[in-house]
Amino acid sequence: MSEPLPEGIKHLVTINPVEKAPKLTDEAKKELQSVGMMDEKGKLKLKGVSAKMLKRMKQEQVDCPVLKQEIAFVQCYVCRNFHSRVMGQVYCKGEPL
Ligand code: SF4
Repeated sequence: MSEPLPEGIKHLVTINPVEKAPKLTDEAKKELQSVGMMDEKGKLKLKGVSAKMLKRMKQEQVDCPVLKQEIAFVQCYVCRNFHSRVMGQVYCKGEPL
C-alpha cells in the first residue's frame, strides 16, 4: 500500500476471520482481568462492545508483527499498541511488547 500511515502507526495488520481464534495466553487473560475486561470465570466484558460484536471478535485473529505469531483479535484489541480498527485492519503502533 502506498498511502502513508498515520503518525505513530507502524503497521497495518489484516484481521482474518477463522473458525476458532487462538486461545488467549495466560498473560493476556491476566491483563484483561487487571483492567476489568474479564471476570474470574474468564468471561470477557469489553466496554462498548456488544455481545454480537464480541462473538465476531472471538472468531478473528491477526498475525501480529511484534509478537510474530497469530493471536486472537481480542488480545490485539486490548494491546497497548492497538490504535484503531479500520476496514478490517488494525492500526498498530508497533512498539516492542
Ligand atoms: S496491536 Fe498489539 S497485538 Fe495487535 S498487531 Fe499490534 S502489537 Fe500485535
